[in-house]
Amino acid sequence: TPDQLQKYEKIEAFVKGFKLSSHTYKKIMSLLNEEMNNGLHKHTNHSADIKMFPTFVRSLPDGTEKGQFLALDLGGTNFRVLLVKIDGRDVDIQSRTYLIPQRVMLGTGTQLFDHIADCIIKFTQQHNLRGIKLPLGFTFSFPCKQEDLNQARLSKWTKGFRCEGVVGEDICKLLHEALKRKSNMDVEVVAIVNDAVGTLMSAAHNDRDCEIGIILGTGCNACYMENLKNVGVWEGEYDHPDQMLINTEWGAFGDNGCLDFVRTEYDRELDNFSINPGKQLMEKMIAGMYMGEIVRLVLERLTMEGLLFQGIDRECELFVRGRFYTKYVSEVESDHDEFFRNTKQVLDELGIQNYTSEDCKVVKYVCTLISARAAFLASAGLATLINRLNKPSITIAVDGSLYRFHPRFHNLMQLKIHELVRPGLRFKLTLSHDGSGKGAALVAAVALRLR
Ligand code: ADP
Repeated sequence: TPDQLQKYEKIEAFVKGFKLSSHTYKKIMSLLNEEMNNGLHKHTNHSADIKMFPTFVRSLPDGTEKGQFLALDLGGTNFRVLLVKIDGRDVDIQSRTYLIPQRVMLGTGTQLFDHIADCIIKFTQQHNLRGIKLPLGFTFSFPCKQEDLNQARLSKWTKGFRCEGVVGEDICKLLHEALKRKSNMDVEVVAIVNDAVGTLMSAAHNDRDCEIGIILGTGCNACYMENLKNVGVWEGEYDHPDQMLINTEWGAFGDNGCLDFVRTEYDRELDNFSINPGKQLMEKMIAGMYMGEIVRLVLERLTMEGLLFQGIDRECELFVRGRFYTKYVSEVESDHDEFFRNTKQVLDELGIQNYTSEDCKVVKYVCTLISARAAFLASAGLATLINRLNKPSITIAVDGSLYRFHPRFHNLMQLKIHELVRPGLRFKLTLSHDGSGKGAALVAAVALRLR
């Protein structure tokens, strides 16, 4: 009906900012590539948003690694301790997950590392590892400037963490000190890696073409294998192997304003109310920590404009920040017929009453646009890396709940990357398992093998 058409046109005006052309994604790619070069070069690194940290990882696993390792995983909502046994291609993992309470995430560094130490001590007692000094790989998924494989200074907190007194400190040292405070326990930290690196290593264990890793979870980050001669910030030796795994920390892309031409009013509002305004702007358009909230802001706006949920109760949870979870986006988009079963369940959970099928359709449409933009931005990033590597065949290791559970993320990325890479370059997106456990242990194992 004409009324409906008019309504759709009005809705479109509020969401059109999420629809970007191929031309725009290509523009983003060239800006990103430029910023990557800035990050890699000595004279421009200090002012680059993307830090392109050398990880000190220069070799990928070859399947001959062997041994028993402890691994730690800190970087999202949970902290995990793992016992990883590697014997060639066989990997056995036992792990335990420990919650990090909000008060610890926003407390002091001492509290955080004491908490971590307590968890490690508990784990080693439960697994009869007391007195055994195992090599340890620490997946610490925040931007760090590495000074060695097992020496990493935190450059800033992201993803909801903000512990006092840790920025600028060596993570490995803080861990040792906490373990000493808490018990006489000693560990040999062989490697500190981030989750993107772990994800890549884990997949590379079975696939020699794997040279890119990406995380699409709470946050968004990527790493890739760069020629050492392109790494201007490298001050170490240039012996064989003449390559270096680079942790891009591309989540910070756009912090200098270069993405403002694509950011919407909703992106700006989300950023203003975050604990790190002006920071991690690319990440905030992609990652799981933020996607649901962007959807919520749009739905809130459409409701206020009278285009959605007529007569809604103003006390309802749709109007509460953070209340529209990113997993809802996956659920809503999994509806494939006019019954909108999942969508209705989500709206019920939010306490929205008297919604119509039309409303469900609009909610789904909004989710679709915002998740597609996220998948396409991630694709633009990956296509930039694939073009840089310029190899006939590349495997990209992916991990993170957003990629795992969103019903269309993989397909959207597959299509978009294909559209954006130089013709003739083949690529494969593969789900990587146990990046933060197996991957971290493998980094340690490779380092020990090469010692
Ligand atoms: P992390 O990145 O912290 O290691 P995950 O990969 O599990 O952990 O990512 C957690 C993020 O994934 C959260 O921000 C959450 O909103 C999002 N998430 C969880 N479940 C889903 C889902 N079903 N669909 C999309 N996103 C999800």
